[in-house]
Amino acid sequence: MKQILLLKCGELILKGLNRGRFEDKLCSILRRRLKDVGDFDVHCNQSTVYVEPCGNSTAEDAIPVCQKVFGVVSVCLMAVCKKDIDDICRVGAEYLKDVLDNARSFRVTAKRADKRFPIKSPEIGVMVGGYLQDAYPHLKPDMENYDVNVEVNVREEYAYIGAVRLPGAGGMPTGTNGRGMLLLSGGIDSPVAGWCMAKRGIDLSAVHFFSYPYTSEEAKQKVLDLAAILGQWSGKLTVSVVPFTHIQEEIRAKCADDYFTLVMRRMMMRISQQVAINQNCGCLITGESLGQVASQTMEALGCTNAVCTQMPVFRPLIGMDKEEIVAISRRIGTFETSVLPYEDCCTVFTPKHPQTRPKLENVEKQEAKLDIDTLVAEAVAGVERITL
Ligand code: ATP
Ligand code: MG
Repeated sequence: MKQILLLKCGELILKGLNRGRFEDKLCSILRRRLKDVGDFDVHCNQSTVYVEPCGNSTAEDAIPVCQKVFGVVSVCLMAVCKKDIDDICRVGAEYLKDVLDNARSFRVTAKRADKRFPIKSPEIGVMVGGYLQDAYPHLKPDMENYDVNVEVNVREEYAYIGAVRLPGAGGMPTGTNGRGMLLLSGGIDSPVAGWCMAKRGIDLSAVHFFSYPYTSEEAKQKVLDLAAILGQWSGKLTVSVVPFTHIQEEIRAKCADDYFTLVMRRMMMRISQQVAINQNCGCLITGESLGQVASQTMEALGCTNAVCTQMPVFRPLIGMDKEEIVAISRRIGTFETSVLPYEDCCTVFTPKHPQTRPKLENVEKQEAKLDIDTLVAEAVAGVERITL
């Protein structure tokens, strides 16, 4: 029996005249990602994407890949039937045998996308339901509390019947909302922040500040591993590794201890903007969350943000609790890697009593002791670009 995946696309429907462009983008992302698991024909019709296995490839193998593509709201595994009510009933009864044997109650929801089909949706539901009821007399029809929801979908060329609908990643296809530069540390938060913005259609690049030998090669590898996991959702990304040791040593030597972190964060933002511009990114993305640490109080964020004059900074976690962030991190698969115990450059030289309510003029006074432009230029020139 031939199986196929029907994918429901989300907000694409809302996009009016842009819909075609969005659907094309979604299909081309799916084609590229599915190459890793087999040979599939991918096309779109009336806001539904068809993923048809070719040769020896199977629809089941494509499911986990499709579930990680942004823009896909749900993934439905279905058997292909002729556009004939008897065939739909017969194929359905055979195809769904295991599921229906193990269920106590069921319902049928039918959809007639092709209005030329002579039987209306409610009647299709009644006819298929009646047939399945006869074939599996133990089943109780129940529209509210059902074990199995049998879906029938009559479309242009064929009809489809199935009972497995799985959640997709939601959001918008990668790249439909431009490119962004994620400040990626080895922590829990920044991969989640990147995922949240990738979900909104942003094509990600990443920048990582590396303070060798204060932070180790293992710490850098951990960041690359996180970028690879993130890439399973957002598409492969490039990590720009910025040499940060000299800057941290300069701040340490010349600035007051309690301003160390703030001055450092402003340096990160200046450099990140430059790296972002060089790579055609239109925004920065960070994993900051209000009040989480001293550098994330309203005042501290204000001082950090003051140097971000060239592009917006998106902080999707700003209003989230740690538990919420951790839950997403587990769901997207970055948690286990994030909690590996390697140090980040932010924990190098951390002051005991950082400023939590800093004044911008005082931060600027501390920075006057540094040759900011040269330090930024050196760091940007030293960037190592790693494509995963
Ligand atoms: P995370 O869990 O993402 O490390 P955090 O709670 O530890 O965040 P900070 O260390 O203050 O918070 O960092 C705030 C944000 O700054 C991070 O979410 C990340 O976007 C960015 N950042 C911190 N360290 C680095 C780094 N070494 N390289 C790139 N970006 C960084
Ligand atoms: Mg951190």
